[in-house]
Amino acid sequence: MAAIWAVAELAGGRPTRLSLELATLARQLAQASGGTATVVAVGSGAAGAAKELAALGPRVIAVEAPTEGDRPAASVVAPRLAALAGEARPDVLLVSASPDGKDVAGFLSARLDLPVLVNAAGVRWADGGPVVQMSTFGGRLGTDSAFTHGRGIVLVRPGTVTAEPALAPGAVETADPAPSAELPPVRVVERVVQAGAAASIDDARVVVAGGRGVGGPEGFRIVEELADAFGGAVGGTRAVVDAGWLPYSQQIGQTGKIIKPALYVATGISGAIQHKVGMQTSGTIVAINRDPDAPIVEFADLVVVGDLFEIVPRLTAAVRARRG
Ligand SMILES: Cc1cc2nc3c(=O)[nH]c(=O)nc-3n(C[C@H](O)[C@H](O)[C@H](O)COP(=O)(O)OP(=O)(O)OC[C@H]3O[C@@H](n4cnc5c(N)ncnc54)[C@H](O)[C@@H]3O)c2cc1C
Repeated sequence: MAAIWAVAELAGGRPTRLSLELATLARQLAQASGGTATVVAVGSGAAGAAKELAALGPRVIAVEAPTEGDRPAASVVAPRLAALAGEARPDVLLVSASPDGKDVAGFLSARLDLPVLVNAAGVRWADGGPVVQMSTFGGRLGTDSAFTHGRGIVLVRPGTVTAEPALAPGAVETADPAPSAELPPVRVVERVVQAGAAASIDDARVVVAGGRGVGGPEGFRIVEELADAFGGAVGGTRAVVDAGWLPYSQQIGQTGKIIKPALYVATGISGAIQHKVGMQTSGTIVAINRDPDAPIVEFADLVVVGDLFEIVPRLTAAVRARRG
């Protein structure tokens, strides 16, 4: 019986959105394999976070551990996880494809002698092990990979699944494992919030994004107004970030962020493959483009063909009128 583990990341004592997705994915893989799902949450406030994670179905092991700032360092999380996993020998360890997650996965791989598959855009169960979908060649090719012996660590990207509560919550346990090794402590000296940062696109339910078709930084005013009318956030393509019209924190795509809003409105965006990989799992994709043959037409749910400078302000007015 396969044991599927997910490693939760905590921020401010709460699980990150990606951690909730990993808990859901662990449950789905356990169902598909006839195995068990477990989430391990390490950090300060782990017991509280465990309740939120258990609502998604898996059993949760909460490990209280020192946390400086709002996130426990990978050097604190990894040795405790290695101690637990060294004993329980899970078949699959799902880890966030985040900077901290990559540190944790590297340590676990060395300590537990397990292989790692990175940047999973999807994971399914087949032939006694996880099959990991990845995109290569700038998103042009999709590959399916499996572990030679069916066991290993998978680094999972955001938006692979939607976090969904289970019918019955999982049990919560606590553990206090002795760290499997002492790692040099990493101290976060300072966290800097980007000056003038707009609403974050990471968790927004609605993202209105602009591309080169917006014409310049002043063109983003109408994009911002539409995002504002929806109560959403503004994103953009690499072309507009490279041009300095938007900060990098708002870039969507292969070399930017991967997002999964309920509604994604693309204005003046051609839909290049490198952009598509960052937003293709959005709930509903609406494209406003004057070119009826733009690549985005192929994968948008709704396409409005026309000049965005005419359409976007009218759409904003219509949304405002509806929302009162
Ligand atoms: C290694 C690599 C990594 C990359 N990573 C990323 C990434 O992370 N994210 C990303 O976005 N790109 C990325 N790119 C770049 C990507 O290939 C495209 O060049 C980029 O996405 C194009 O941006 P765009 O859609 O804004 O511009 P364009 O491709 O120039 O499209 C502009 C669109 O606007 C439309 N338009 C123009 N005027 C109007 C108007 N008035 N009304 C309506 N429509 C109008 C046009 O018809 C056109 O479809 C990467 C490229 C490489 C090689």
